[in-house]
Amino acid sequence: MLEQLKAEVCQANRDLLAHGLVVGTSGNVSQRDGHSGLVVIKPSGVAFDALRPEDMSVVDLQGNVVEGPYKPSVDTASHVYVYRARPDVHGVVHTHSPYATTFAIRGEPIPVLTTTHASLFGGPIPISGYAVIGEEEVGREIVAHVGDGTSVLLRSHGVFTIGTDAQRALRAALYTEECAEAAHLAMLRGYVEPMAPDVVRASREWYLYGYGQQPVGAGS
Ligand SMILES: [Zn+2]
Repeated sequence: MLEQLKAEVCQANRDLLAHGLVVGTSGNVSQRDGHSGLVVIKPSGVAFDALRPEDMSVVDLQGNVVEGPYKPSVDTASHVYVYRARPDVHGVVHTHSPYATTFAIRGEPIPVLTTTHASLFGGPIPISGYAVIGEEEVGREIVAHVGDGTSVLLRSHGVFTIGTDAQRALRAALYTEECAEAAHLAMLRGYVEPMAPDVVRASREWYLYGYGQQPVGAGS
């Protein structure tokens, strides 16, 4: 079942490794099928470079396995919580990408220091409270803190991004790491004043309404 979606979610998971956002078996991508409401997610403990479409787990919105040869990701309860709470979200990505995770460790939002950050995210990338790994609690923290954005830092853990599909959530994860790296390196050399809110707003509006062929966003 869901052969096309399994192939896409498999490739998106492999792309996490190719982009340097994950090591080992940490991190995962899922996508919800718009017709059945079922979710395709990475299986637990399988190396990214060994993943095949037929290895993907298919779960329902309660996290029960519908199909797949392996146990689904340990983060499945967190992903399906987000899908239940946010009918507009169809893709979720989780990483421990290193620069963004340093902000998560310090309990600091990623400040808006570049026009790229302003355009793609429209404000600081927020930080959640602590949550126990693998539980719905993580999902609750994501939903409570992500607001109308597409990226959130999970306190002392890593990054969760959301989107209307897995590709958009993946893109948000990539740019979260790029913005975190630039901010971290700039802040090493002293205090940096975040961009003024009106400049951030203007950059965001230019991106949403003036850039490319049609309105787009980091996750929408
Ligand atoms: Zn994690």
